[in-house]
Amino acid sequence: MSGFPQPRSTRMRFACRYAKLTGMQPSTDEILAKFEAAGGVMQRAALRRTCSADRIQHLIESGALAQPRHGILMAEEPTTPEATALALGGNLTCVTLIKQRGYWTPRNSSTHVRLPKHRFHNAALHAFAPAAKLHHLRGHDLSTEPETLSTVLRCAEQCCERDELVAVMESFLRGDTHSRTDIATAVASGRAKLRQAYRLVEFGADSGVETLVRVRLRELGIKVRTQVKLLEWRVDLLIGEWLIVEVDGYSYHRDRDEFVRDRRKDRALMNAGYHVRRFSYDDVMFEWAKCAKELLKLIRANKHLRPSNAKPVTRRVRREN
Ligand SMILES: [Zn+2]
Repeated sequence: MSGFPQPRSTRMRFACRYAKLTGMQPSTDEILAKFEAAGGVMQRAALRRTCSADRIQHLIESGALAQPRHGILMAEEPTTPEATALALGGNLTCVTLIKQRGYWTPRNSSTHVRLPKHRFHNAALHAFAPAAKLHHLRGHDLSTEPETLSTVLRCAEQCCERDELVAVMESFLRGDTHSRTDIATAVASGRAKLRQAYRLVEFGADSGVETLVRVRLRELGIKVRTQVKLLEWRVDLLIGEWLIVEVDGYSYHRDRDEFVRDRRKDRALMNAGYHVRRFSYDDVMFEWAKCAKELLKLIRANKHLRPSNAKPVTRRVRREN
């Protein structure tokens, strides 16, 4: 890519040559270390505190630094979300911002940035952060405009499935920062997918993955109740009266006690005659078709209507002589 920083060996050679010329100014290695600490991208004004304009110009001409846009310098492809947003001149948004604020999101390794129109259509600029997922919302063209619940959800609508949007919004409600009214107002300017997702939002799910299971089962036409109390336990989802679906909502078990408690709960419920199916985070996120098939098979066998310890009904055939 033209204008992109050269490999480190080239930069090192340049550093040696430059050290002789620059007296009190930091060495090229020191400058590059500053960029590394900043995620690869810095404002030119911040560098000017220690470097002369001539020196910065020389670093750019030598290929040690690139200039993605006016006032911004970079030494390597951005390594943090913040550096990506600075290089491109946009706001962190969508699942990146939602995750940073501590809410549930589907897994997504890209950095999602919302750009004003002129930067969204600038392909040369995008080349400086090729891994970023870019958004633009009509009518939001000021680069200084901060993200709102509405802009974040409207961007997420472009990246998430409907069930994932429901899980994100329920996660907002669990967090207590946003009320249902806040979310209703935010989705009003969104498209149909976002508004449909909002109509499926309920209170009470323990995790985003549990929300996904509920929404997906209902999409299959399966009637499911949530957070039902059975014996002394509260179960995640109940199909019919006897088929329990439990969901390990996190990609890992938060602690050993919880793991042990979940197994005790499953055994107690199974001993009482309930059918229990427990799905992990990975089951739901990556193997959902198999999980759904397994549940549909149980439903077809009426396991949701009959306890597992019910004795089979045998008919005695009386032979009449
Ligand atoms: Zn996105």
